[in-house]
Amino acid sequence: MKLFDLHCDTLYECCETGRRLRENDLHVNRAAARKYRHYAQFFALFCGARAPSETLARERDCLLDTPADRRLERMLETARREFADNADWLSFCRSADDLAEAARDGKAAAFLSIEGAELLPDRPDALDNAYEAGVRLLTVTWNYRSRFGCPATLDQEEGLTNAGRELVRGCADRGIIVDVSHLSEQGFWDVCETIDGPFVASHSDSRALCRHPRNLTDRQFAEITRRGGLVGINLYTPFLVRQSDSTIEDAIDHIEHFLGLYGERTVALGCDFDGCDELPAGIDGLGDLYRLADRMLALGYRQSTVDGLFYDNAFAFVQKML
Ligand SMILES: [Zn+2]
Repeated sequence: MKLFDLHCDTLYECCETGRRLRENDLHVNRAAARKYRHYAQFFALFCGARAPSETLARERDCLLDTPADRRLERMLETARREFADNADWLSFCRSADDLAEAARDGKAAAFLSIEGAELLPDRPDALDNAYEAGVRLLTVTWNYRSRFGCPATLDQEEGLTNAGRELVRGCADRGIIVDVSHLSEQGFWDVCETIDGPFVASHSDSRALCRHPRNLTDRQFAEITRRGGLVGINLYTPFLVRQSDSTIEDAIDHIEHFLGLYGERTVALGCDFDGCDELPAGIDGLGDLYRLADRMLALGYRQSTVDGLFYDNAFAFVQKML
C-alpha cells in the first residue's frame, strides 16, 4: 500500500537530539518507510518548543536557544543533511512533477513545511527565501502567540494580525500551501477572508467527537471541503478521545465523522509522528500504520476510501497545488 502523510516532527528531533533519519528509535525512519509501496511525507521545520523540564532541556540542543533569526537556517541545515544522507531511497520534492518522478523511481517523496511561522526570520524577503529553500506548506501558528496570530490553545476569538494576513496572502501568491492546524477559530475565518483558494489543516481531528481546542468544528471542516482542501487525521490520543488511552477504532471514528460530512476527498493523514508521544494502541510509529488500513477494510470500508485517505487525496491535492 501507499502512504502520504501531511505532518511529522522527525527533523526537529534530529535537529535537537542529533538522531539521524536513516536509523533511529523515532516514529519515522527508513525501515518504517520502506514498508510502503510508495511513501510521501511533509517534513516540518518546527519553530521550537520549550522543553517541559530542566532535565529534558539539558538532554537537547534546544532550537529556542539559537538566536531567532538563525533558527530556520538551523532547521534547514538538518533537513539538507538528512535528505542528502538518504538520497538513495528518498527524494527532496518541491513540485507535483518531483512527486510524480519520485513515485516512478520508487523513491520516498520528502516535502518541507514550516510549523509556526515565527520560525521565519523577521525580514521582508523571508518568505521568498523559504520558498527558494523548498518550503511548500506553512502552518501559520504553533501553540505560542506570534507576530502572525493566535493559536487555538490560547484564545479562539483572537485571530490573525495584519502581518498574519499578509503572510497568508504571500503564501497563496507564491504557491506555498496554507495550513490552519493550531490556528484559532477566528484565525481560521481570517484565512478564509484573506484567500480564495483551498488550504489544509494538516494534523487536526473532529471537535464534534473530542472537544479539544486543537480540533476542527464541523463548520470548519465543511469550509475546507467546499474549497477542495485537505484535513490530515492526527493520531495524538488527546485529540482522539478525552481519556488517556486510545485505539485504532477511535481514529476510525474521526475518519468516519469526516466522511459523513462529504469528506471522501478531503480526509487524509497527518499523524503527527515524532511530535506526539501518546498514540493508539497497536501503532508505535509509521511502520504500523498499515494496521489502520487493515482494520478499516475489515470493517467494510471500500478499498478506494482507504486509498483516498492513505494516499490518493493528498497526491491529487499536491498535483493541483504544487
Ligand atoms: Zn503540531
